Amino acid sequence: GLGANLGNAAAQVRNAFDELDRMPHSRVLRRSSLYRSAPIGHADQPDFINAAAQLETGLPAEGLLTELQAIEQRHGRVRSFANAPRTLDLDLLLYANAVLSTPGLTVPHPRMHERAFVLMPLLEIAPDLAVPGRGTVRELLKGCESQIAERIGG
Ligand code: AMP
Repeated sequence: GLGANLGNAAAQVRNAFDELDRMPHSRVLRRSSLYRSAPIGHADQPDFINAAAQLETGLPAEGLLTELQAIEQRHGRVRSFANAPRTLDLDLLLYANAVLSTPGLTVPHPRMHERAFVLMPLLEIAPDLAVPGRGTVRELLKGCESQIAERIGG
């Protein structure tokens, strides 16, 4: 799951797709359109641009997260407070059907099932996808109808 809300957020997300494709032992199979969503939590910040990508990878889940964090760092993300503005946020949403819980990594991502800005791009690239233990993306989206997220294309 990709998200950005500082600088040219759409460009950050588009560049990130290309960087995901350049990670070791990995390639991007599908990339969603871009979506615009209202910030959750700390509301006094710009809207987010969100998207999702499906990858094929030979990396283990923890190695994949390390690569995602390296891309975030290159985009100059500054960790200040929870839900703060960020130049680029990359979340490991799902890893095949794995259910993982270690100190640094929880898969499926613990909040993905309740966020329209995650579920809408996922539905676009994987219409029959299910979140282990939670249900299908299509069903989960019905529980997020009050959230504002809109497809803005390319
Ligand atoms: P955030 O600020 O929401 O991007 O959270 C980043 C922190 O969440 C990092 O310290 C990660 O180790 C941890 N984390 C746990 N599970 C995940 C996941 N599935 N995807 C991304 N970060 C995760």
